[in-house]
Amino acid sequence: MKIKTQEISHPLLKEKEIQLFIKRIDLIHPFVSGNKYYKLKYNLLEAEKQNIKIILTFGGAYSNHIAATSFAANEKGFNSIGIIRGVETLPLNDTLSFAKQNGMELHYVSRQEYRQKHSSDFIEKLKDKFGDFYLIPEGGSNKLAIKGTQEILDKNNTQHFICIAIGTGSTISGIVNSSFENQKVIGFPAIKGSEDLEKDISSWTNKQNWKLINDYHFGAYAKISEELIGFVIDFYDKNNIPLDAIYTGKMMFGILDLIKKDYFPKGSSILAIHTGGLQGNKGINERFKLNLPI
Ligand SMILES: *Cc1c(COP(=O)(O)O)cnc(C)c1O
Repeated sequence: MKIKTQEISHPLLKEKEIQLFIKRIDLIHPFVSGNKYYKLKYNLLEAEKQNIKIILTFGGAYSNHIAATSFAANEKGFNSIGIIRGVETLPLNDTLSFAKQNGMELHYVSRQEYRQKHSSDFIEKLKDKFGDFYLIPEGGSNKLAIKGTQEILDKNNTQHFICIAIGTGSTISGIVNSSFENQKVIGFPAIKGSEDLEKDISSWTNKQNWKLINDYHFGAYAKISEELIGFVIDFYDKNNIPLDAIYTGKMMFGILDLIKKDYFPKGSSILAIHTGGLQGNKGINERFKLNLPI
């Protein structure tokens, strides 16, 4: 698959003699956007192989993973069930009404119950309720997801640094696995202080050429700051590239801030991965009366 990579121009890049590229995997599919496409690919093939007809997964009410899974499952002829954290709010937001349109059955659980999503007791209860299903964990993150995300990079992606936004860490793990040894992969967690993140990534990759930078989560996963919103809008005006405010906006803000602070040696080239997530901007626009690009 040919995926577009664009070079970003910015006075700062010229001043610091840095080249910055963005790989647009957000454009890979209109609804199964960015890294979620790669994470689902082998999971859906496995469900098919096991002849299981129902895909069950977990997510919050604005989850990119829920939106992507609902579409991909439907397209491949599966039924899907989404276990959604929290109580139902009507009318459904854009993410959940999209999921419903794709035939996803939405089942709401309390935050407390949701926290048990990995426990076998909870999963057994779900099996009693829904019958046999193929389970994809929250965020779509498992071994088969990493097999998929290993396909994000190709042999032409030879930049010195690769930058990627992080939720559960499975996308960066696949990227690290397929990176060259002399490249450095830098992850920007969108979530504050997830203690298990480094451990999880270490369990999914044997390589050491990666590092997390925890300075650009903007307080919390879905916390929105004026500075970040302003950045996303300005970036869109100048480059005609929409970023999402939860993941890729924070990453790109971080990259440019690090360039400003001379983090990257002069003459470096950087490849940022646009992991998608733009459907999430709809929910933010709706909640905060904003006009983020989608
Ligand atoms: C889900 C998501 C991520 C995080 O991916 P992980 O594999 O969970 O780290 C990053 N960016 C976007 C846009 C996403 O939707």
